[in-house]
Amino acid sequence: MVILLFGPPGSGKGTQSPAITQLLQIPAISTGEMLRAECEAGTPLGKEASAILAAGKLVGDDLVNAMLVHRLEQPDCSNGFLLDGYPRTLPQADFLDGFLQTHGFPEPTIIHLSLPVSVLVERISARRQCPKCGKIYNILFQPPKKKGICDLDGERLVRRGDDVPEVVEQRLKAYEAQTAPVITHYQTGDYYKVHAARPPAEIIRDVTNLLRARRNGHSVGR
Ligand code: ADP
Ligand code: AMP
Repeated sequence: MVILLFGPPGSGKGTQSPAITQLLQIPAISTGEMLRAECEAGTPLGKEASAILAAGKLVGDDLVNAMLVHRLEQPDCSNGFLLDGYPRTLPQADFLDGFLQTHGFPEPTIIHLSLPVSVLVERISARRQCPKCGKIYNILFQPPKKKGICDLDGERLVRRGDDVPEVVEQRLKAYEAQTAPVITHYQTGDYYKVHAARPPAEIIRDVTNLLRARRNGHSVGR
């Protein structure tokens, strides 16, 4: 299966994706994580992208498309994959549709995590992440067992540079202006809207149920 995990920044895509990829045995690909890794490594792409990420704007379609294709052509993607944070613009959606078609992938299944903006801002400002394993925490809602330390590997948690209020505002604007139309593009396809202002376990349960039914060929209510 090809899964597109949609939702505004802070909606819980990174939190939900490990359970989905475990269920379907496909890799999770986050273009945001890939771009942050490029920035950290100081590659030419990272150098071009870092100011854009810091400003909360979107990196150019051609750069992101090229980076993504390189990843999707790796052997672990041959049975499908989950995309988190891509496509984020209509040209990216057209590009992905063409890629899926020419490479013989099925029509994507879209899971849209939907919730009010007020909840997003609160969640993002309390987000922390392990720089080593990528596990996502929240100092209010999903704190680590030991303050500031990753449960899995003992690494000190960090706050993303773009999780500060001014940049969050810009990221939410970019989502409304450029990414919301992408949802309309996919709404007539295999699209499911999931109410995401609920505890993570409830969301995972609903998403797992709908994906199990989908995988077994049953129709699922939207
Ligand atoms: P995204 O990948 O969509 O930007 P994340 O998965 O990083 O979002 O979640 C943003 C923040 O909200 C994180 O701190 C995460 O721990 C927290 N979070 C995610 N899902 C929920 C939820 N259902 N309820 C409360 N907090 C959540
Ligand atoms: P995310 O981790 O999904 O919140 O993305 C972090 C940042 O990476 C975004 O604010 C953008 O600057 C950039 N980014 C991630 N994915 C894309 C994409 N598909 N297109 C353009 N920019 C992206």
